[in-house]
Amino acid sequence: MMGTAIFLTLFACLPVILALNPQCNPGKEGMLNVHLVCHTHDDVGWLKTVDQYYYGAQNDIQRAGVQYILDSVVRALLEDMTKKFIYVESAFFFRWWDEQDEDMQNNVKMLVDEGRLEFINGGWCMNDEGGAHYNAMIDQMTLGLMKINSTFGENSRPTIGWQIDPFGHSREQASLFAQMGMEGLFFGRLDHDDKDTRWANKTLEMIWEGSANLGKLSASTPKSHGDQMCHIKRCMHKDGQTGFI
Ligand SMILES: [Zn+2]
Repeated sequence: MMGTAIFLTLFACLPVILALNPQCNPGKEGMLNVHLVCHTHDDVGWLKTVDQYYYGAQNDIQRAGVQYILDSVVRALLEDMTKKFIYVESAFFFRWWDEQDEDMQNNVKMLVDEGRLEFINGGWCMNDEGGAHYNAMIDQMTLGLMKINSTFGENSRPTIGWQIDPFGHSREQASLFAQMGMEGLFFGRLDHDDKDTRWANKTLEMIWEGSANLGKLSASTPKSHGDQMCHIKRCMHKDGQTGFI
């Protein structure tokens, strides 16, 4: 799994995102509109323990201190109302949240209400898809999503699945996300030949019906009955070569 970092992700602003987030710039009609949104990918344990990642200890193993990401991002959002940020991992977010005073918590609630701080995925972590039992996937997603809901309300509900670092992907994960109401799924790491073919054929976006039994229901959201758009994420290496990092 990748280390703690903030990535920039390129994606076209889907109509559903616009509808849910009026802060999203509508762009220009007749053009390919690209939005850059900063987001987290903070491993809830990998080379270091969760505590070490959060507090920034053992930086000789990996330079990572998640609490400082949240400190600095929230400060930047409060200073500039044109800025937006996406947070993914509930385990780290609520650890930070519990350490904040009431004034800061109210400021963060304001940012969430305004759509400038958005949660996606929202599970306790970004679970593995190959070795995890589906009960565990549901449990960890439930824990994170319930915390978001009870803290920030229904409008903060994540609508995008975000699986950018598991080593391989399962149709059950896609199906579960659709049944949870996710309206899109971004993932990284897939077979390189598959990736290269899709890149060449411009088929990195697709509709994924994860369940043969559920059919369309595993690709639709109960809310909109729209299709769950699946977008395969590509990362950019420092040397400019595309690939997975
Ligand atoms: Zn990772």
